[in-house]
Amino acid sequence: MVDLQGQYQKIKQEVDAAIHQVIDTAAFINGPEVKAFQTELEAYLDVKHVIPCANGTDALQIAMMALDLKPGDEVITANFTYVATAEVIKLLGLTAVLVEVNSETFTIDPAAIEKAITPKTKAIVPVHLYGQCAQMEAIMDIAKKHNLFVIEDTAQAIGADYKFKDGTTKKAGCIGTIGSTSFFPSKNLGCYGDGGALYTNDDQLAARVRMIANHGQSVQYIHDDIGVNSRLDSIQAAILRIKLRSLDNYAKARQNAAEIYNKGFANNSKIKTPFVANFSNHVYHQYTLTLNGVDRDGLKLFLASKEIPAMIYYPKPLHHQKAYADARFKDQDFAITIELCKNVISLPMHTELDIDTQNYIIESVLEYVNKN
Ligand SMILES: *Cc1c(COP(=O)(O)O)cnc(C)c1O
Repeated sequence: MVDLQGQYQKIKQEVDAAIHQVIDTAAFINGPEVKAFQTELEAYLDVKHVIPCANGTDALQIAMMALDLKPGDEVITANFTYVATAEVIKLLGLTAVLVEVNSETFTIDPAAIEKAITPKTKAIVPVHLYGQCAQMEAIMDIAKKHNLFVIEDTAQAIGADYKFKDGTTKKAGCIGTIGSTSFFPSKNLGCYGDGGALYTNDDQLAARVRMIANHGQSVQYIHDDIGVNSRLDSIQAAILRIKLRSLDNYAKARQNAAEIYNKGFANNSKIKTPFVANFSNHVYHQYTLTLNGVDRDGLKLFLASKEIPAMIYYPKPLHHQKAYADARFKDQDFAITIELCKNVISLPMHTELDIDTQNYIIESVLEYVNKN
């Protein structure tokens, strides 16, 4: 699905030197590389504060802890997402309120958010799924009207631009109260291990996030709050500094690859290619087709027989998972999510795809779709 080895070969010298430099100085934790990466990512995102942490799941958890969400508070998020989003809500004893997604963008549906709001609602967690922003302007309007926090899960969309109606743009994750991201190796900005970060323009919130990520201490050995231990290590930060410089080029490579797929699958009534909204560009963390009247799992097996990996993000709505089922979630409210779980399939998407490989993938998909 990704070619991290191929990507590494192009930056090997720089990366190897940076790793060795960290080892030579032995500044493994909270070294200067972490601070430098933080500053460079703040500049790239045009946001006041970036707080690195250990992974994207921690980032979400730390955001909810820093906002002082308490058991009984309701947090609204999409039913069609990676489990981490809902997991941290439940882990903190909060109530996860899963809602429907939009049929074109597959991101959380603002109308469904509005319907799910109760006096206990405290926050909305939009997920910028597959590399495209959720409808942030509508979500921010709802949040203002009901006085809710907005935690943007940007794990799949680092670098994506949200376009406001007035023509201005902001980076994904820098629009709501706070944004979270992941540097898991296969993400668009991936390190060589685990990593994550939070972003916010709010000085006070940034200080709280830093304190919570560091055992609840703002002064050493003074613990005013219960925190966690969640750090980005220096070796990962050194690698991320190098890869951040190429992030826009990586996005372009993904967009070019998406265009080639789009052309290959154009005008086929059984295949819907990704929708690109007028309010966001797409950085294609995933390139995901929606099939119509095709045996999706059969296609996945057929591709595997031709040594083409394909993945299903996600095979089940969260409310069909035992850990997240709840009598308040009814199938009739999730027709879109349920259909997507049956019909989506993600094809190989990364920065190192070449035209021959893509043509082989396109031909193979069409071969199966046209005869079945
Ligand atoms: C990857 C991912 C996460 C979690 O990131 P980790 O670094 O693996 O903890 C959270 N949310 C979404 C939408 C993701 O894709």
